[in-house]
Amino acid sequence: MAENKKVSKKSRKREKVERKERRFAPSQGQSSLYSGVGGMAGALALGAGVYGQWVRNPALPWAQYLVAGGAVTLGIALWFSDTSADPIRVGPVGVAIEKGSELTRIAWCDLKRVSIENKALRLEGDDLVLSVPLSTHPLAAAWILKEAVERVPDAMDVKGSQSDGLPEPKDGDGELVLVENLQIAGRHCAESDTAISFERDARLCPTCAQVYHRDHTPKKCVTCGDELAGRAYAL
Ligand SMILES: [Zn+2]
Repeated sequence: MAENKKVSKKSRKREKVERKERRFAPSQGQSSLYSGVGGMAGALALGAGVYGQWVRNPALPWAQYLVAGGAVTLGIALWFSDTSADPIRVGPVGVAIEKGSELTRIAWCDLKRVSIENKALRLEGDDLVLSVPLSTHPLAAAWILKEAVERVPDAMDVKGSQSDGLPEPKDGDGELVLVENLQIAGRHCAESDTAISFERDARLCPTCAQVYHRDHTPKKCVTCGDELAGRAYAL
């Protein structure tokens, strides 16, 4: 965070700034079975069925649950993922989960609710729910909470005591990697609803990563209310 603030102050002019995020590998241990169970309980608590489960690696079982059937309770398609064995990235644009070479991202601006349920941090968007098990991803969870409080405070639904036991986020945590695979093309400008066909036309809010067309970037972010003039950045 500290370095983000420094960057935005210095780069009044639109310099090409390399965006970096923190990558956290899962901690090894007996806890992965636990989080599988926790993930299942979470899916059941949702009132939706468990439709699929694959065990990729017998030594470190992880499960992925597809919640289908129109996600009874919420009326949206949910992709409920247990991430106990997948690396997680946290940074200026949001949270991403690495599945092999694929990144599944949820942007800060798309987060509707951040909560802790069944020993997992639950990140809820409109059409995506990510679950970060506290047992295998304590540092990633701590960083997500720290960033979310600053970037999307309205989405926070975590009681103080629920995050007890998580480590204190420190500057040297994780491995700094370049932000990649943002998949901006196809999104719509949050101000004008203009479709963004090319990444180069996109301008991002440095706080919540909301996306605007460069010709329609407002003075203040419509999602988080932060100043965009001189701060919105190009990819
Ligand atoms: Zn914003």
